Amino acid sequence: MKILVINSGSSSIKFQLLDMADETVLASGLVERIGDEHGKLACTIYPGAKAEVHREIDQEISDHQSGMVMIVDLLCDAEQGVVRSRDDIAAVGHRVVHGGEDFREPVIIDDRVIEVIENNIALAPLHNPANLDGIKVSRKLFSRAAQIAVFDTAFHQTIPEKAYHYALPYEFYEKHRVRRYGFHGTSHKFIAGECAKYLDKPLDECNLITVHLGNGCSITAIQNGVSVDTSLGMTPLEGLVMGTRSGDLDPAIHAFLHRNAGLDIEALDRIFNKESGLKGMCGMNDMRDIHKAISKGDEKARLALEVQTYRVKKYIGAYMAVLGRVEAIVFTGGIGENDPEVRLRSVMGLECFGIEIDQQENDQRAKETILINKNSSGVKILVIPTNEELAIARECIKLLDTRA
Ligand code: ADP
Repeated sequence: MKILVINSGSSSIKFQLLDMADETVLASGLVERIGDEHGKLACTIYPGAKAEVHREIDQEISDHQSGMVMIVDLLCDAEQGVVRSRDDIAAVGHRVVHGGEDFREPVIIDDRVIEVIENNIALAPLHNPANLDGIKVSRKLFSRAAQIAVFDTAFHQTIPEKAYHYALPYEFYEKHRVRRYGFHGTSHKFIAGECAKYLDKPLDECNLITVHLGNGCSITAIQNGVSVDTSLGMTPLEGLVMGTRSGDLDPAIHAFLHRNAGLDIEALDRIFNKESGLKGMCGMNDMRDIHKAISKGDEKARLALEVQTYRVKKYIGAYMAVLGRVEAIVFTGGIGENDPEVRLRSVMGLECFGIEIDQQENDQRAKETILINKNSSGVKILVIPTNEELAIARECIKLLDTRA
């Protein structure tokens, strides 16, 4: 069964076509600069034994409809395409950022689901409208395929009240839905499942701490296979230090900067989301550049690395307390998979909790699951590459199977 996974952003569409018979990727690519006269489509087709084909097209891509048509034309191309027609695609899986309190699981998209995603636009004003654009176009183009929404927030809907409420007037929750939702749920769920397989233990018997460190960063406490707390909050700003996002702050800093630096609410929102985090502290948000700068004696870069990894360690300690018993800590994401120093600093000094990292095992990049704890460690430490496209495609298959 062939599943097309779509991640539709405001000016981009990321896509991957998978054959779920053996979970192989048939094609993947990215349409960028939608709405710009210099739009771009880059696509790699993996036609089995034949050589890979890379295609790049530069032309105006006026809207999501045009972008999706270009993708379909490439996938169905008589010579180099991977499907005969769009009817070969059984389902289209859409990444949707905010499902609010309405979705605990992936769903087949119908008019009612679209309405509910629209109702959640206030909670994700940048993301949900872009996700909806992709869904609407895809429903038209793939009229015979099942359209399935997989929400970033869904995995965290099991978080108990005491962990999702902020200590604010209760009416903010009732009237404005102010609460912790959590994000990166598809990734946390995927690596939790892969970890349970690796440990050869049923997921619902596993207590795990999953650490996703990429441009966005989050950490989740998983008890008996379900999320019970996570660091991203009502929006993807809370918690860990990220590429350009601050993570946890004293909430009074907003008012302080407004009064003392003359910054209005729009400026503060932009600064905390786009000009803070690693970039705010040292001017760089790619961890590889930060390491290079540190080796040349850049003190701000060193501080940024220390602040980031100290925060991760603090959260690991907090989630050890939340969970009591922990089988494994799992690192993933571009930094989590590739950066031994970040992993080391994040767990160094936690031996008193039974967390002992093996520095030699840790000193590698993870192309597949690796175990990096010492044999004597009570808590296992793993690195598992995340794969959100595969995770979404698997969710689609699971949903279609339950309806069959
Ligand atoms: P996103 O959150 O956008 O999906 P990724 O998970 O792809 O991001 O992570 C991107 C980040 O991964 C980059 O900003 C970079 O800091 C980091 N990264 C990628 N490769 C390496 C590497 N070899 N060493 C350290 N960091 C890396």
